[in-house]
Amino acid sequence: MPKCENCGVLWTWAQTVCRLCTLGEGMKCPSCREEQFVTMESRKKTSLFVFAAPLLMFISVAFGINPFASLALFLASFLIILGIYPFVIELTDERGPMW
Ligand SMILES: [Zn+2]
Repeated sequence: MPKCENCGVLWTWAQTVCRLCTLGEGMKCPSCREEQFVTMESRKKTSLFVFAAPLLMFISVAFGINPFASLALFLASFLIILGIYPFVIELTDERGPMW
């Protein structure tokens, strides 16, 4: 789970997912209200995940798999990615470059 760099509090899975769903780069720490940012390092790691779901759907469509099955596959992979995402990311209190 990501840890706030400012106050050292570990974010819960739900808190992390909620904050990831909000728009904008910064995520407010639930404990100290300081803006936290996903580190460059973990952004690089997770960029692979972000492309995995649509890629999987594209592959299944390309191989002629039933569209409903590929949609289910897409949703399943999306949920799996969302499920493991908070375990992978790390936080920093410095706003870094986007890439
Ligand atoms: Zn904090």
